[in-house]
Amino acid sequence: ATPTALMVGTGRGAQLGILIKGPEVLETTRKVDTIVLDKTGTVTTGRMTLLAVHTTPTTTETEVLRLAGALEHASEHPIAQAVAAGAAERTGGALPVPEDFANVPGLGVQGVVEGHAVLVGRGRLLAEWAMTLPVGLERAKAAAEAAGRTAIAVAWDGEARAVLEVADAVKDTSPQAIRRLRALGLTPILLTGDNQAVAETVAREVGIDEVIAEVMPEDKVDVIKRLQAEGRSVAMVGDGVNDAAALAQADLGLAMGTGTDAAIEAGDLTLVRGDLLAAADAIRLSRKTLGTIK
Ligand code: ADP
Ligand code: MG
Repeated sequence: ATPTALMVGTGRGAQLGILIKGPEVLETTRKVDTIVLDKTGTVTTGRMTLLAVHTTPTTTETEVLRLAGALEHASEHPIAQAVAAGAAERTGGALPVPEDFANVPGLGVQGVVEGHAVLVGRGRLLAEWAMTLPVGLERAKAAAEAAGRTAIAVAWDGEARAVLEVADAVKDTSPQAIRRLRALGLTPILLTGDNQAVAETVAREVGIDEVIAEVMPEDKVDVIKRLQAEGRSVAMVGDGVNDAAALAQADLGLAMGTGTDAAIEAGDLTLVRGDLLAAADAIRLSRKTLGTIK
């Protein structure tokens, strides 16, 4: 590739809303055959809404939302923002301030609220504290997940008390972007820390056949390494702090411009508008740029 052609390609990229770290990045995109897509914030909008609250008979929605909302208010996770906003709206009151707060990456949050030891997160977070969901809540969780919603458990003082349903929407452009990526010869794979059933519902909606779900943040990088060990050349698209290591490991890292600084720093390319169509544009552009110089 001549420097001039690469510079032209880089300039054209900027016009398309694609920021390229260096001209050598264009060379990599030519070989890529697999594209791993983070779910939340990449394929979906990442703007979640609290849709429903299921409680055990011994508590109320208001009590659940006060305690869960107070904890989630201290977290920046998209799920946390949905729970905190939904809690403020549905309870109509100010939320208490947690005395003790900890983020448990990929699992949820924990802390002390009004003297109660509260957990909000995946079933696995509760399991770590030897708690399980009672049958009624387990049923509500299964139904929510079958409908493509994320079910979040709430527990305090050693007992599971509620299941919250949250969901975000697939970005309008995601299905078309997946079709274009396939037309470029790339195999798309959906990668997420979220539940298997939710991941499969989203994958079906956008036209992805392969799903790798329930992956802990620190294990996303191993998924990329495993695909590379199979001889694949892997692109990864992500937006979160939990995607940064995977973006750096991938042969080509594409960061959503709407995402976190950590993701943008780790990526080779930034998709300024946070739109997956730009991922297809980036790959087509680089192939075109390199094709014209042969
Ligand atoms: P993704 O890979 O889709 O971006 P994460 O790895 O951030 O998701 O989170 C994985 C799962 O952990 C979420 O789907 C959720 O069930 C749970 N979780 C993480 N953070 C929180 C939180 N603050 N509140 C509730 N649940 C959470
Ligand atoms: Mg994400």
